[in-house]
Amino acid sequence: MSKQILILGAGYGGILTALTARQHLSASEAGITLVNRFPTHQIITELHRLAGGTVAEGAVALPLNKLLRDKNVNVVVDTVKEIKPDEKVVVMESGQVQRYHALVVALGSETNYFGIPGLEENSLVLKSVADANRIRAHVEAKLDAYKASGNKADATIVVGGGGLTGVELVGEFADKLPEVCRSKGIDFADVSLYCVEAGPAVLPIFPKNLIERAVESLEKRGVTFITGVAITEATKNTVSLKDGNTIEASTIIWTGGVKGNPVVGSSGLAEDRGRATVTPTLQSTSHPDVFLAGDCAVVFPEGGERPYPPTAQLAWQMGETVGYNVSVLFKGGVMDKFNPVFSGTLGSLGRKDAVGTIGGNNTQLKGLPATLMKEASNIRYLSHINGLFTLVH
Ligand code: NAD
Repeated sequence: MSKQILILGAGYGGILTALTARQHLSASEAGITLVNRFPTHQIITELHRLAGGTVAEGAVALPLNKLLRDKNVNVVVDTVKEIKPDEKVVVMESGQVQRYHALVVALGSETNYFGIPGLEENSLVLKSVADANRIRAHVEAKLDAYKASGNKADATIVVGGGGLTGVELVGEFADKLPEVCRSKGIDFADVSLYCVEAGPAVLPIFPKNLIERAVESLEKRGVTFITGVAITEATKNTVSLKDGNTIEASTIIWTGGVKGNPVVGSSGLAEDRGRATVTPTLQSTSHPDVFLAGDCAVVFPEGGERPYPPTAQLAWQMGETVGYNVSVLFKGGVMDKFNPVFSGTLGSLGRKDAVGTIGGNNTQLKGLPATLMKEASNIRYLSHINGLFTLVH
């Protein structure tokens, strides 16, 4: 029987592992099974655009069977329930059991609610295509309710967290909601759009001048930023703040942070605060036949004290390292150490504005060049995985 590679998760890490492993291993050398809870590879860096209604679902959800056509990858649509690395088996929600010679865990991260009362029950998140569709439908339904009742809470949206996810989402709302309001006969001036950030500033990843540029651009389009104040509680229609204020809002979207996937944290793989620990070759520190890619692993630069951030560009590169290393596990040779290249970070501020830093010397971009660069980086990714094909077929 040929060797069996089992990949859990078809996000950036899982897809790049499958594609890279297939470049180095023929179908007779290794079978590859990819398990994912959706039948699509989701471009989560673009979900804010789906939530705002500026792109269609087909642009951010690529069917796995099309993406992996001719790659001899067995796609299983199921949810991983339990990983048993000592027994070399993985149990699915359906009850199906998958065995492996090499396992790749690329299950991503989950929303962190930090135990804030009422938040999980009363907020929406932006982690999947379904979440983005839910946000768009909810906002529209609440605007309809506002039109009918005049209840101000129905025209109030609070985005909790001013990291890149939160700011990119308010940017889409700022661009799209005036048009949505016009179509419903609502004055956009009646809509309150808040972004609440516990830290002293939004987008702390960027230098001060780019933060100021981003805030100014979004405030001009109707966003109100509340910074230095944490959200402490949420109910169906209210958001409580640490300074004692309460915002009445029927739409609460939480983008306050991520944590390791609990399936990985409880698997028996060596872990650190819920994320699997890895060697420089991205093997589990406890189980060398298990590789990790993406947010579910905690990866430190050699000699560094702070782990790499959980980003798509790193998950993509981890997948490529893992795809090659798994072939070395079977065929011999020297595994690659994970040595990422940072191309920069770009945050969109709606359809026509963005800020970011690119390249090794952190060149700053803003406005149209940043917007075009952000578009280009998405197209570059899609073309890298041959995903442009699925958009037109
Ligand atoms: P994040 O952790 O980067 O940001 C969450 C923000 O929420 C933080 O600024 C935090 O201070 C704030 N927060 C936490 N608790 C709060 C509270 N109680 N009240 C108010 N604010 C609170 O999370 P993210 O934005 O989802 O990003 C996750 C990762 O993905 C990051 O590494 C990010 O760089 C990356 N990302 C990148 C892009 C891009 O490159 N365009 C887009 C989205 C996400």
